[in-house]
This record gives sequence, structure tokens and C-alpha cells, in this order.
Amino acid sequence: MMIIDFLRDTVSSFFYLLVTPFCAHCREWLYDRQRVLCNKCTAMIQPVVSVDLEITKTYKITVHALSAYREPLRMLIQSKRFGDRIAAYDLGRLLWQLTYFNHLTCDYLVPIPLHWTRYARRGFNQAEEMAHELGNRRQVPVAKLLKRVRKTEFQAQLDKESRSENVQGAFMLDVADPSLYAGKHLILIDDLMTTGATLKEAARLLRTLKPASITALVACRVI
Ligand SMILES: [Zn+2]
Repeated sequence: MMIIDFLRDTVSSFFYLLVTPFCAHCREWLYDRQRVLCNKCTAMIQPVVSVDLEITKTYKITVHALSAYREPLRMLIQSKRFGDRIAAYDLGRLLWQLTYFNHLTCDYLVPIPLHWTRYARRGFNQAEEMAHELGNRRQVPVAKLLKRVRKTEFQAQLDKESRSENVQGAFMLDVADPSLYAGKHLILIDDLMTTGATLKEAARLLRTLKPASITALVACRVI
């Protein structure tokens, strides 16, 4: 079954990239094949205010987002099949162009990891691809400091309380030299924030590296 899925996704991505350069939302013809949304649909993206997420009673991180979790971006977040890497790059480009990212102090971009079984199914981690796109544009390294040690249920299928329990202990630090990150400015990257439980758990671990700051940047936030 997995091989059939793999072949189907590979074939569909091949056609998507080579044969159908259309806007992913309105199907308008796209002249720039590195993009997935046309200018009209890009202009439909509704900005969303940044929020503070409480990590402990005395420590908060700010979460910046490109948009609320609605169209035209929702379908890009959901397009996590093997061939939709281009959507991840384009989300990175939009984060670069339309958010506060350029004004944030940043030494390392830290993507939220996927469990390896999901990585194997999908072929890539959307958060990581977004981080690479942002890192290339800003000349900042991507540091994969977190490792998912436990496969969690998809957050969207759980209620609020279960989401927090679901991610507890889901990650561990994967850092060869912790001294590299002490006093540095880290930006967590993810595609979607629902309750914030995942970002909280990630920030809680990164804090033990004693960074100067932790900020989060996500493509969409559920509001
Ligand atoms: Zn469009």
C-alpha cells in the first residue's frame, strides 16, 4: 500500500510541477513556476496579530503568524503529500515577505520535527522546508535541535486538554554542543499552531540551552 501511495504521489507531483502551473487556490495560470499562489490569492491572505504563549508562570514566547488557518493558505498546509514540497517553499517565501520575520533578531532557525514514520510517508517535513527557505533568504543556519521520540496523535483530532498531554515528552534535545546556543536568539518554525501545546513543549526544552531569546514563527494559527 505504501509503495502504491508513494508512486501515486510521485507521479502526481511530477505532473503538478511540469504540466499544471496553476494557482493552487483559484487555478489561474501561473507564470512563475516556483510559486503556488497567484497575486490575487496572495492578496487574500489575512494577517493575524502576534500572540504571547506562556511557557512557565514567568516565561513567555511570542508567536508570529502569516495568517489565520483559512483559505487560501489552509490547503497549502494540508498539502502534505510527497510532491508538495514546493508549497512548503512558497510558505517560506510568504513568511519572508509578509511577516515580522525580517525584524526579528535571529541566530538559528529551529524547525519542529516530524516523527520518522510520518517523514517516511510524506517524504519531507514542511516546517523544515520552510525553515530552509527562510534561512537561505536571511543567511541564517537551520539547526535541527529537536528530535521527536514519540509518535503523537494528530493534534487536530484531539480536544484541548488531550493536545497538551499528547505532546508531553514527545521531543528530546538532539544537540552535540549545547554551548553553541547559549546566549543566542532562536526562532522556532512550524506550519500550524493549534493550541500552542507543541510550541510550548519545544520551547520548554530549548530553554534548557539558555538562549538569549526564543520566538516562534508559524504559517497559520487557529483562531
Ligand atoms: Zn489564485
